[in-house]
Amino acid sequence: MCAHILGAEAERDLKARYGGLPEGGLGRRMPHKTISMGAKKKRKHKDGYLWYHKGLRFECTQCGDCCTGRPGNVQFTSEEGAAMAAELGMEEDDFYEQFASPAHPAGTWQMGEVSTEYGFDCLMLGRCEETGKTFCRAHSSRPTQCRTWPFWPENLTSERAWKVAASECEGIGRGSFISLRVIQEQAAETPPWGER
Ligand code: SF4
Ligand code: SF4
Repeated sequence: MCAHILGAEAERDLKARYGGLPEGGLGRRMPHKTISMGAKKKRKHKDGYLWYHKGLRFECTQCGDCCTGRPGNVQFTSEEGAAMAAELGMEEDDFYEQFASPAHPAGTWQMGEVSTEYGFDCLMLGRCEETGKTFCRAHSSRPTQCRTWPFWPENLTSERAWKVAASECEGIGRGSFISLRVIQEQAAETPPWGER
């Protein structure tokens, strides 16, 4: 799909779900007469594109901070539960008994947690004793909300929101640029609040 069309769809989705992208920018706050040609060009540029149109840097360091700490809510569907059980080589019933509990809305599940020295670890979280890095035991089939982090719609509403997310995730701002198309696909896939 054309990135421009996808951008418009994602913007509409953001507006519907989160009240829209922030208006303004430096150009809009300046009195019209004092706006130079360069500023005008810049304003047009800002209005026509999302603030992250060039992509965003992200590379997970496997610090594990998003899978532990404060009590969290990692919600997933029955399909995702079946996929995780298969990845772990378990019967679905055993998987739910050991790792999850029913959540709302009906048909969704919540991953269990355990209190550790690091905080409340998701029960899928593993730690490598040698490197200190963490990993998800069901990485290939992990819940959508885990897979689409940090490109959640609310983190993309403004550069400020992205910086707030970066304060909790050291992988934001690292590595190579993730393209606008991938960012928007992941944001669109992220379940709405209440289902994560
Ligand atoms: S907090 Fe960010 S860098 Fe750390 S494990 Fe989670 S996604 Fe990766
Ligand atoms: S399911 Fe995996 S990726 Fe998601 S919070 Fe748990 S350990 Fe982290």
